Amino acid sequence: MGAAHARLGPSSAHRWLRCPASIALTELIPPRPSGPAAAAGTVMHEVFERQLLGQHHFTSAEIESLAEFNVPESRARLIVDQAVTSARQTLQQFHLSEFLTETRVDPGAVIGRDDFWGTADLIAADAATRTLLVGDLKTGRGRVDAEFNDQLLSYGLGAMPLLEFEPERVVLAIYQPPVNGVRPSVWQTTPDTLREFAEFARVQAKQTDIKNALPTPSSEACQWCPARTICPAHT
Ligand code: SF4
Repeated sequence: MGAAHARLGPSSAHRWLRCPASIALTELIPPRPSGPAAAAGTVMHEVFERQLLGQHHFTSAEIESLAEFNVPESRARLIVDQAVTSARQTLQQFHLSEFLTETRVDPGAVIGRDDFWGTADLIAADAATRTLLVGDLKTGRGRVDAEFNDQLLSYGLGAMPLLEFEPERVVLAIYQPPVNGVRPSVWQTTPDTLREFAEFARVQAKQTDIKNALPTPSSEACQWCPARTICPAHT
């Protein structure tokens, strides 16, 4: 995970794509430090990446920090092991032997923005089958599905310029052991979906630049919105 955050981050795309005004409102409130669940998730992401690359498991320092975040070692190991199994299954299923972990992708470059970028947990591609796969690890218990997942579509859009071929198949995958064990949520689509998403993102990103834009509440956008306490739609 990158140290800095994009103004228009893929992980919050589900919110700002539906409520562009949430960006300006969020900038009015002080940034909140990560909670223990997010901090533990960061540690597990780092170990997930290492294990996928065939490197070592948790270090003792990581186990100690997880304990501080109230995540027992056994639970963290189970989540990471299941996520790695799940990711390897999808790589195998789509015959993808080459992959990258923790890769900076720049969907904003595709739609003319310099504030829309992020770090994808897993990107894999195969020129022979013209397949692009984008995978994301979730360590929380709130179910996340791959179908029309804005975060994965953002990563997929950003991964397109990295390819040396034109894909025919785009595979989005969520690895979420606390909800699905070793079964990933997988959605197969085509580059047309990414192109349609790009147009939508282009329009909505422009809306985030409009001062005093009206908030557009929805259960999906508002649920985790940091600006909810000051949002005119809720106060
Ligand atoms: S609380 Fe909902 S309506 Fe208000 S800014 Fe956030 S996402 Fe938009």
